[in-house]
This record gives sequence, C-alpha cells and structure tokens, in this order.
Amino acid sequence: MLDLTPRETLERSALRINPAKTCQPIGAMYAALGVHGCLPHSHGSQGCCSYHRMQLTRHYKEPVMASTSSFTEGASVFGGGANMKTAVKNIFELYEPEIIAVHTTCLSETIGDDLKTIISQVQPDVPAGKYVVHTNTPSYVGSHVTGFSNMIKSFVSYLSENSGHKNGKVNVLPGFVDPGDMRELKRILSVMEIKNTLFPDTSGVLDSPMTGAFEMYPSGGTTVNEIIDAGNAKLTLALGTFSAEAAAIELEKKCKVPMKTLSTPIGIEATDRLITELASITYKAVPYSIEEERGQLVDLMLDSQSYFNGKKVAIYGDPDIVTGLTEFVISLGMIPKFVITGTPGDTFKRQIDAILIKNGIEGTKVKAAADLFELHQWIKNEPVDLLIGNTHGKYIARAEDIPFVRVGFPILDRFAHQYFPIVGYRGAIRLIEMMSNVILDKIDRTCLEEDFELVM
Ligand code: SF4
Repeated sequence: MLDLTPRETLERSALRINPAKTCQPIGAMYAALGVHGCLPHSHGSQGCCSYHRMQLTRHYKEPVMASTSSFTEGASVFGGGANMKTAVKNIFELYEPEIIAVHTTCLSETIGDDLKTIISQVQPDVPAGKYVVHTNTPSYVGSHVTGFSNMIKSFVSYLSENSGHKNGKVNVLPGFVDPGDMRELKRILSVMEIKNTLFPDTSGVLDSPMTGAFEMYPSGGTTVNEIIDAGNAKLTLALGTFSAEAAAIELEKKCKVPMKTLSTPIGIEATDRLITELASITYKAVPYSIEEERGQLVDLMLDSQSYFNGKKVAIYGDPDIVTGLTEFVISLGMIPKFVITGTPGDTFKRQIDAILIKNGIEGTKVKAAADLFELHQWIKNEPVDLLIGNTHGKYIARAEDIPFVRVGFPILDRFAHQYFPIVGYRGAIRLIEMMSNVILDKIDRTCLEEDFELVM
C-alpha cells in the first residue's frame, strides 16, 4: 500500500502526512476514564465524540462511555452554553456519575466558548457531593498526550486540597500508559510498601472482566476523594515529562506537595531510577522479589544479546514512551537510527539527544511534530532491522519487510496488549520477548533451507 512512497524528501512546513499522534480530546477522555464514577463529556459535535470513543474502544477492546454537547448549526453559531446546561442536568439524572469531566473540541474552541464561565453557570444544576470539571483541548495544538496532561492537571486544579494534615502517601502520576502498566506500577509500590495514590488509574476500568452484566462505571479508577486528598501527600512522582509533569507542578503550586519528574520506567535504566527513588522514600532495602526480577531481566538481556547487537531501529509514538524505548534499545546494544514523535515540543529532542550523547551514539535522526510519511522516506534511504510503534506503522513494516513490534497508542489490530505491562523490569522482559520474536521470525522466514535451525 505504501510501495510508492518516494525516497526523495522535501521540506514541508505546513503539511503532515500520517502524523505520529492523534487529537487532544482522546487523551482527555482516557484520563477521565481513570477516575472512578467519571463520565467524560465532549463539548462539541457528536462526530468528534464518536471518533474519540471509537479509538479508545478499538485499542482497549472495551465499551467506552462518554457524553456530548451535540452541537448542531445553532450551537456552532451562538455558542454551546445552553447545550452544556441541558447536558449536565440530563447526565446527572440519567447516568448518575460521581463527576463529569468536560473537554472541548476544535469546534467549541474555534467559536471561543468560554468553558470556565459556562461550568460556573451550571453549578446550581450539579447535585450535592457531585462535581463538574473541565479542560481545554483544542486539537490544532499538541496531541492526545497534551489532552491527557491537560485533563489530569484540571482535576488537580478543581479538586485537590491541602487540609494541613499530611496523609503519608506518595502521589504517583503514571502518564499515558495502559491499564496493565498501571497495575504493574501498583504492584511495585505495594511490594515496596509505599502508600500511594495512583492517578489516573484505568485498571479495573478498561481491562475489566466479562461478568455478563453491564456496568456504566466499573470498579476501578482513582476516587474523587483520593484526588482531593492528593493535596496532602508528602511527594508527587510524575512519570513522564509530557503526560504527567504538568499535574505534578500544579499540585506543588496549589497544595505545596513537593514533586519530582522521572521518565516513564521503560527498560532497565529508567526502572532502576524509579526503584532507587522509591527506596529512598522508604529508607528500606529494595525487596528481594524486585531484585530477582531485575536479575532475570539482566539474564535475558545477555541471552538475547547476539540477536540485538548492532541492529538498527526506528521508533515512533508518544514522547514519554519513545524516550524510554530509545534508552532501552541502546542498553540492548541496538542503534536507534530514527526517533520521532508527533507531539510537538523541543523537550523531546533535548531528551533523546541527551540519551544519545551519554551513550556515544551519532547519526540518529530525531524529530518532534513529525509524521510517518517522512519516517518511511528515511527508512527507504537507510533501512532498519526493527520498527517499534503503534499500529499505524504496519504499512511501513509491510512495504519494507521490517520486523515490527506494536507498542504505544493506538494498537487497533492486535489483542491483549492492555493486560500486559511495558513498564518495570517485567515490562522490559516482555519487550525483549516481543522484539526478539519478530527478529527471529524474520530469520526463520527468509533464511536459506540449510540455515533453517530448530534451536536459535
Ligand atoms: S475536529 Fe478536532 S477534536 Fe474533533 S476529531 Fe477532529 S481533530 Fe479531533
């Protein structure tokens, strides 16, 4: 399908072809689903809301509930305040959420709806003990990662309070990762005996079991009370500059909770940094079970070394995820040749360049606000041995016959990814399994008959 992508690259300033990102409200909707009893609400037309729900449903293979202000021509001209007012009344009456998390769309942003004022005007229609919060998510700025970050920051701005009594907890902001990753982070925190609030938490929401009964609000998710109480924590750990840091800064500003940003714990080095940080909080030795997992990972890194060493890799996707993957493939002896994200921002290039310099790697092309069309052109000019990213890269992988590992968001054409982590030592073990399998599959598929080995 992409066989005709030309090798010659042209400088494009105003055109993206297959951008390595999707639109802001999708991230905002995902963040809201990580709050217990929350109904995400899209302030715009029905089409946007349907698209956002569909993308999340296709990735998580779960029905994603969200409401919409259902803009038609009238609201598009005169503003959507009246629609919002009706929506809030109807939603609390019909769907009974604990909280409504409103995000905007390109349409409501373009006509200039003042959501802050509109939300303050609907407060009389909000039942006691229930909440309506909002964030602005114009999709012509940033990406779904920006929308995710904006939404969790807004939850903090609206809800978190410093009551003056410390709760002894650590707020852990996991960033835009899957429910399997959130479960893994909670497991690590539990093994290390750290009282925590993971926020948001989509485990138990977007990986819930089939029970035969429909639950509008599954059992998972950070509770509103936990978000309020996050203002009394002793520390906030933001795991990811792009998707988690803004909310941690807001908590520090609003509630004086000290914060620290770490990278998303993908790969051995980033996980080491997280474990070291957690150990410094507990003043205890790292539990043996965590050391054991690390030892297993190191063993596997050595076992698989001959298949990874010197291999060239192209990585694309969300900035916090791509940064972790880049560092990890280097620790496996691979060379990241092309590293891109669709999310704009200079920080991405700075972070990747710092990793490359630290490891003495030169000649890597790094780009933010980039697209898959250009990545394909780069690959045509300099082929790679492995491609890592979301489902959208499958066309490049097919056109160039590159072993392909699906990591990130969205994964629309495979199953079960939402259950398994890519974070922590266990997540790194899983990544090695996925990467080595596709490389070995290609060797099996393309080698000469006499080289076709049972044991590899
Ligand atoms: S109009 Fe904007 S918010 Fe709606 S789907 Fe398109 S990019 Fe997303």
